[in-house]
Amino acid sequence: MNRNYVNLDVNPCKMCMPMGGSLAFKGIESSMVLMHGSQGCSTYIRRHMATHFNEPVDIASTSLSENGTVYGGSRNLKHGLMNVIKLYNPKVIGVLTTCLAETIGEDIGRIIEEFKEKKDIRNIDIIPVNTPGYGASHFEGYFHTMRSIIEYYNRKKAKPNGKVNIIIPNMTCADIREIKRILRLFHVDYVLMPDFSDTLDAPYKPDYEKIPEGGTRIDVIKNMSGARATIEMSVSIDDRYSPGKYLEEEHGVPLYRCPIPIGIRNTDWLIKTLSGITGKQIPGSLAVERGRLLDAMIDSHKYNGEGTVAIFGDPETVYAVTSLCLENGITPLIAATGSKNLKFRNLIAAKGTQAIDGTDFEYVHEQVKKLRPHLLIGNSDGKIIREKEHIPLIRIGFPIHDHIGAQRKLFAGYRGSMRFLDDITNTLLDLKNESYRQKLYSEFFCRQGNT
Ligand code: SF4
Repeated sequence: MNRNYVNLDVNPCKMCMPMGGSLAFKGIESSMVLMHGSQGCSTYIRRHMATHFNEPVDIASTSLSENGTVYGGSRNLKHGLMNVIKLYNPKVIGVLTTCLAETIGEDIGRIIEEFKEKKDIRNIDIIPVNTPGYGASHFEGYFHTMRSIIEYYNRKKAKPNGKVNIIIPNMTCADIREIKRILRLFHVDYVLMPDFSDTLDAPYKPDYEKIPEGGTRIDVIKNMSGARATIEMSVSIDDRYSPGKYLEEEHGVPLYRCPIPIGIRNTDWLIKTLSGITGKQIPGSLAVERGRLLDAMIDSHKYNGEGTVAIFGDPETVYAVTSLCLENGITPLIAATGSKNLKFRNLIAAKGTQAIDGTDFEYVHEQVKKLRPHLLIGNSDGKIIREKEHIPLIRIGFPIHDHIGAQRKLFAGYRGSMRFLDDITNTLLDLKNESYRQKLYSEFFCRQGNT
């Protein structure tokens, strides 16, 4: 049977919604995640996050078994909440549903209200978020969770405060620190969310902290509805999952969307938007960094000109990497994501690149075999294609669990784009140097009977 007619994913090019939800909560101060479902869900998510960030990652589970599945998991959820409070003493608990909890129709909002009333819980915010694993991908789960957190704290409009909300996509911890540095250079008063730059990339400390320091403060999240504008770093998220759209529609906070600032155009987009919103001049040091990136682009264009690449990962990362490749003369042969995302398809197609959404790694592999790009750019799940086709893989995105240091790699801003571009160019140079020697050896040495 033709594979295209079978409703089956082999190695999906995505992860599930609660994975994204967990990452969003890890960027909120003093928060803990409780996953309502079977133990395997939290183990799967902890394992991916712990190996990507190289940090201990705690995610609690309500451990639903046969009994809870048949008769309802209310008891498990209440028990789990009590344990999390006793063991972690958090200010915020994010309760995320899973496939199982959604399939049996658990009303987590009602169960949480009952629990809070019975135990007289007043000083802990327990935020329910519906994240059925099969509902969408980690990409939508991440934004939907952020939207739910903002909705929870911004039911009433806050007083105008002149701040700029910055909604961060799934970037590295180093990228978030770079965005904060750019904001400081602009002297902008901002609220950045979620901020997992410290919680998931903490310095060594002799004593283990159950909940690491850092994250977006709750008191500032409460003021997001009084901000002067929101910059949401996503051009492909659907409006129904968009935190910026909620703030715009419910509280009249103007929304500006920009791609992940990777590549010169995308970074310019962010810098100009910041300058436009605040009315401030672009800082001189950023102009110097831009000039260095331009210089690096000139240095490398002659090596990149004939390079081809296959890109895969979550829609926003793939879009940003595609932009960087195109502005440097590297041709993306395919740009693939596991999320079903029409906006992504249209944006990529407008750049003249073959866009594939809702796909799996089996299909990406088939395309790679057919098109034979020089490079692969994406997350670690492409390593099988790398091994089988002997094509180098430059790692970006989530998860990266076969290399260390993913959390501290810089891709964003002028400086990150330059480092990333150098990485791509040098990999192409290595390929060229290796293959042309082989070609010369075969053509001139072996042909003359010297083998
Ligand atoms: S897909 Fe469903 S069952 Fe699997 S880990 Fe995600 S929530 Fe759990």
